Amino acid sequence: MDSVRGMFERRAELYYTLAEVLAELPPWLMLPGREWPLTQAAAKLVPLSTAAEAMAQIPAEAETTRRARHTRLFAGPGRPRFWLYESMWRSGRFLGPETISLEQLYKGAGLRIVGAEAPDHASVELAFLAHLSKQQEAEPEYAVLWQKLERDFIKKHAGQWLPALGRSLAASGDEVYGPIGEFMADFLLDKGRPQKQKRKLTLSFRLPIVVHQELCSLCGFCVQVCPTRALTINETPRDTILLLSSSACNGCRKCKNVCPAGALAMNGADDGNPVYEAHTTLRRSSRVYCPICGEATVSRAEIDFVAEQIGRPGWLTYCQLCRSELLEKQQ
Ligand code: SF4
Ligand code: SF4
Repeated sequence: MDSVRGMFERRAELYYTLAEVLAELPPWLMLPGREWPLTQAAAKLVPLSTAAEAMAQIPAEAETTRRARHTRLFAGPGRPRFWLYESMWRSGRFLGPETISLEQLYKGAGLRIVGAEAPDHASVELAFLAHLSKQQEAEPEYAVLWQKLERDFIKKHAGQWLPALGRSLAASGDEVYGPIGEFMADFLLDKGRPQKQKRKLTLSFRLPIVVHQELCSLCGFCVQVCPTRALTINETPRDTILLLSSSACNGCRKCKNVCPAGALAMNGADDGNPVYEAHTTLRRSSRVYCPICGEATVSRAEIDFVAEQIGRPGWLTYCQLCRSELLEKQQ
């Protein structure tokens, strides 16, 4: 039950951070994508999403450059390239019939709009979805009703145009708002999918997922016991990544059973209903660089795990070679 409740909170966070991105330029948007609260909420809620992966790869940028992107796409000069109002997307008119009906809907659901934005602005609709998710957590006895409201709202409003906006942003080629748009479209389309179809998906897959990201030290035990080689650990110059090839997995649970940290669950049962890609990232951790020679060494996750056992001696982040040389000098 706790994990289900946590899921509502994470979903609210995800909707809310998407709302922030489309409302203005939140201060965190200047940071690298992997540090955004949006990406972190996505990693917890849909850890297997390639669109979320793409967001995590976005580099940091100066505020002026990020702001220029926002202005170019959503403000003008002249007609904005992308309108952020439902009424513009659906009827080509600002303040169309959707605007009035939405205001009444929000009031009925207990959401008061603060600020100057019209009720059918993308950020307000996403904030309303965050509100509906929060209510599912705050009033568990009415969770089914709040959930229905969320689904209906996606079906009748947000899902009618925000996925199209997201795909258009993705097609725009903008390196920041493109991946965000792609992720928003995927997420809303998945949330709007009928429940029956989702249940079928859940029953037809039994795949592992790292539900407790912070516990996984990338030790690789799960990779070693996997009989089908569905799991691999890949190292790029920047990251160490635990990858699952979903088509190779037979659902034997050996990985889950061997994991010393209890980080794995099958089929995301503890964490909603993730969408699996052909090759999905179960865990990613940035690599640490040797302070002596600058070579990439092991991952931050592995360093943190060792540090928990032995503390942080000065040589902990040295590469193998520099560590050997240090030992030789000390002898
Ligand atoms: S999931 Fe468990 S076994 Fe696999 S790398 Fe992470 S900590 Fe190790
Ligand atoms: S469930 Fe079995 S086959 Fe699938 S990844 Fe885990 S160990 Fe490999």
